[in-house]
Amino acid sequence: MKIAVFSTEPYDRQFLDAENASAKANHELVYFDTRLEPKTASLAEGCPAICVFVNDDVGTETLKVLAAQGTRLIALRCTGFNNVDLKTAAELGMTVVRVTVYSPYSVAEHVVGLILMLNRRLYRAYNRVRDDNFALHGLMGFDLHGRTVGILGTGKIGMILAGIMHGFGCQLLGYDAYPNANFETIGNARYVSLPELLASSDIISLHCPLIPETHHIINVESIAQMKPGVMLINTSRGALIDTQAVIDGIKSGRIGYLGIDVYEQENELFFRDWSDTVIQDDVFQLLQSFPNVVITAHQAFFTRDALQDISKTTIANITDIEQGRPCPNEVKTEQKVVAKTSA
Ligand code: NAD
Repeated sequence: MKIAVFSTEPYDRQFLDAENASAKANHELVYFDTRLEPKTASLAEGCPAICVFVNDDVGTETLKVLAAQGTRLIALRCTGFNNVDLKTAAELGMTVVRVTVYSPYSVAEHVVGLILMLNRRLYRAYNRVRDDNFALHGLMGFDLHGRTVGILGTGKIGMILAGIMHGFGCQLLGYDAYPNANFETIGNARYVSLPELLASSDIISLHCPLIPETHHIINVESIAQMKPGVMLINTSRGALIDTQAVIDGIKSGRIGYLGIDVYEQENELFFRDWSDTVIQDDVFQLLQSFPNVVITAHQAFFTRDALQDISKTTIANITDIEQGRPCPNEVKTEQKVVAKTSA
């Protein structure tokens, strides 16, 4: 099948080409580094399938252009599908497939990196030592042992994180709209209500999908319920948090540390090199200016293992649809994201 592959970097091409060859799938992969949006959708002319990533715009307008050109399959190289208008896709007779599972360790381990970086100020320590400044003031952290970690969303990634933080000797609190029986089998782990998780956690990490019910789940009211000085980590989707409310929370001291791998307006920024330009997003620049904020640019998934998993599933999904087989990773119009067992 001929597939227009959007938002690609050299590493995407390397892993997709390798899988296309090793699976003997013989798909014709046409790569574009540009992001898919209504004005770039014409690049997919003549392609019955497109392949997209987290920040591609697969909204109503884009889908109409694609459908008029004959595209019938949308293959996501990611788990989340919040960037796809599923209803319009179904109305236009388009199939949507995604990568339901890929190394959840990649994201969970990145969370631990953010926690340690913030707690022990490793970003500051690294620069200080390189500057021959061996003073310790400003670097004091706290023991993770005995602290309470709140995990909002105990699916694949949340469960792996729970296991890792249990290893640090933390108490674990979970909140999930669809509780997972395996969570409470981890030592020191119990489900609580969202208000209790917010009020009792020293560290809160977000692992639920972005859906209407979770949009800005971290907002002025929820921040007011948190422990003063709490550490907030978001590696899921930017719009889970109301960024302005979090900025106010940092300025007031309610939020003591913020680690994010995702940002609500990241579409305009991430996955590109802006180092020679003046960034116009004042909210992002303000966040960057705080000494207790660490931002990574949607790299939590970025391990060799995860890229292999993503390529394997993406090529297999496309082959399933091409050959008229039922695809286990098809996204249905009214799909609800429910808890699955841990990987
Ligand atoms: P998952 O589907 O296994 O787990 C999501 C969990 O959220 C489930 O247990 C589900 O029941 C729960 N949930 C659903 N609605 C909820 C609600 N209203 N309130 C509380 N919990 C709710 O997904 P996963 O593989 O663990 O991934 C979690 C999220 O991580 C994804 O949705 C995606 O947005 C994000 N992600 C980010 C990266 C990255 O590189 N930063 C990579 C992969 C995934």
